[in-house]
Amino acid sequence: MSPSDVAVEQSREHLGRHALVIGGSVAGILAARVLADSFSAVTVVERDRLPSEAANRKGVPQGRHVHTLLRRGSDALEELFPGLIGELIDDTAVQVDLLNGLPLYIGGWQAACPGRQLPGLFLSRALLEWRLDEHIRSCARVQLLEKTEVTGLLLTSQGKRVRGASIRDLESGTREELDADLVVETSGRGSRLPRWLEDLGFPAPPRSEVRLPTRYVTRTFKTAECHRHWDGMLIFPRPPGRRGGALFPIERGEWMVTLIGLLGDDPPESGDGAFVEFAKTLPTPELYDAIAAAEPTSPIVAHDFPSNLRRHYERCSTIPGGLAVMGDAVCSLNPRFGQGITVAALEALELRAALGQMQADDLPRLGAEFARRVAKVIDLAWPGVVAADLQYPEAKGDRSVSVRFMQWYQGRMVRSGLNDPRVRERFLRVMNFLDPPSSLLRPSFAARVLRGSMPGGPSPTGDATSAGRQ
Ligand SMILES: Cc1cc2nc3c(=O)[nH]c(=O)nc-3n(C[C@H](O)[C@H](O)[C@H](O)COP(=O)(O)OP(=O)(O)OC[C@H]3O[C@@H](n4cnc5c(N)ncnc54)[C@H](O)[C@@H]3O)c2cc1C
Repeated sequence: MSPSDVAVEQSREHLGRHALVIGGSVAGILAARVLADSFSAVTVVERDRLPSEAANRKGVPQGRHVHTLLRRGSDALEELFPGLIGELIDDTAVQVDLLNGLPLYIGGWQAACPGRQLPGLFLSRALLEWRLDEHIRSCARVQLLEKTEVTGLLLTSQGKRVRGASIRDLESGTREELDADLVVETSGRGSRLPRWLEDLGFPAPPRSEVRLPTRYVTRTFKTAECHRHWDGMLIFPRPPGRRGGALFPIERGEWMVTLIGLLGDDPPESGDGAFVEFAKTLPTPELYDAIAAAEPTSPIVAHDFPSNLRRHYERCSTIPGGLAVMGDAVCSLNPRFGQGITVAALEALELRAALGQMQADDLPRLGAEFARRVAKVIDLAWPGVVAADLQYPEAKGDRSVSVRFMQWYQGRMVRSGLNDPRVRERFLRVMNFLDPPSSLLRPSFAARVLRGSMPGGPSPTGDATSAGRQ
C-alpha cells in the first residue's frame, strides 16, 4: 500500500460520492490528493496523455522553463505526498542552500548569510510532475481520464448547483456527461470557466491584470567544471534594465538556464551563439562566464508571459454550488519569484481545511468559502509581484497608493540587502512563504531596512563568487 493510500485509509467519513477535477497538472493532482480523503471516487480529466517518465507535454508549455520549488511549497507537497521529497532526491534533484548557494542579483549581489541555512530543492518541472503523477496513480480512489477535455458544466434542474461536467474524448470524439457532487476547476491560466459561467447565466468573476510582457527563453546545459562557490544564480531585471536570467541546477547533472527579456527586449529563440551572447549583456557577467563554454543538452525554447492575471471568484455575488477553483485558473503570477506551484500547494491545504469543516449538506457552499481562502493565499504573493512589475513605467496596471508605498519600500530593502545578511534572509524567508509579508514591516526590521538604505549606505558591488562565500 502506498503512503497516499495509507492516508486515504485513515480518512474521515465521505462528504460525497464523486468529485471531478478539470486539468491534471500540479493544481489538479494536488486537488485530487485532497479530495480522495473526502470522496468515494475522484476523476481527474486531462487533455494530455500524462507521460510515463519525466517529460514535457503540450498542455504545460511553461514546464520547459526554470521552475523553483519554494521552501514552503516543498514542505506542503511533502505533507500531501509523504516520501515525495526523498524520491526526488533519489532522482538526483539537487539540494541547495537558498541563503548561500543561490546568489541573488538585484542591482548588485545581495549579501550572503554566513552560518545560516535554508535548504531548497532544484529540479525540472517535468520530474516533479511525473513523481506527482506516480503518487496519484497509486491512489486507489483516483481515476485519471487522459486525452479527454471538459467542455462545460452541468447544472441541477433548479440551476443553482453544479451536478457534473460535459467531457469529450479527444481520440474518439465521443461526448459524455459525468455526474459529480463537486467539480474543481484547475485548467490553468487559459481557464474557460468565466465563459461557461456566463453561458449558464452567472456573472464572470471580476479580473485584475498587470501587464508587463516578458519573454522567457530556456536551454539546458551539462554542468560545466568551473571554479565557483554557487550552485545556481538568479539575476533579476531592474528598471531601467530589461534583461535578466536564472541558472538553476536540475537532475542528472544539468543546468537549466532561462534568459529573461522585458517589454520586447527579447532573448533570441535560435542560434547557439546568440543565446550565450545575450547572457553576456546581463547586468553582471557570472551567468555568461558559466555557460560560455558549457555543452548544451537541449534545443532553445521560448515562452511569452503577457501579464499577471487574477480572477476574483471571492468577489462573485453568485457562484453555483459544488464548484471550486484553484491554481493558475484563479491567479497566474509573473514567474519572476517562482511562486505558482507553492501557491497551488497552499491552496490544496486550504481545500483540505475547508472540506474538513464541512458535512455533506454543506458542500454547496464550499465554492464560496474556498474562494475566500484562496484569495488569502494569493494575497501573500500578488501585491509584491505586481508592485515589482509596475516599477517599469511601461507596465500597465493600477498604481494605487499601497502599490507605490510597496515599491518605495522594496527599493529600500533591495538596497539594504546588498550588505545586510539579516535583510536578505528575511526577504528570502518571505519569498519562500515561510514568514508573512507583514513581517517585513515590523518596526525593528523596518528600522534596519531604512538605516541600511540611507544615502551613502552600501553600494552595489561584489560578484556571485563573493556573494556565495561571505
Ligand atoms: C516561464 C514560466 C516559469 C515559471 N516558473 C515557475 C517557478 O519557478 N516556480 C513556480 O512555482 N511556478 C512557476 N511558474 C508558474 C507555474 O508554471 C504555474 O503556476 C503552475 O503551472 C500552475 O499549475 P496549474 O495546475 O494551475 O495549471 P497548468 O500547469 O497550466 O495546468 C493546467 C492543466 O489543465 C489541462 N487542461 C486545460 N484545459 C483543460 C480542459 N478543458 N479539460 C481538461 N484538461 C484541461 C492542461 O492540459 C494542463 O495539464 C512559471 C510559469 C511560467 C510561464
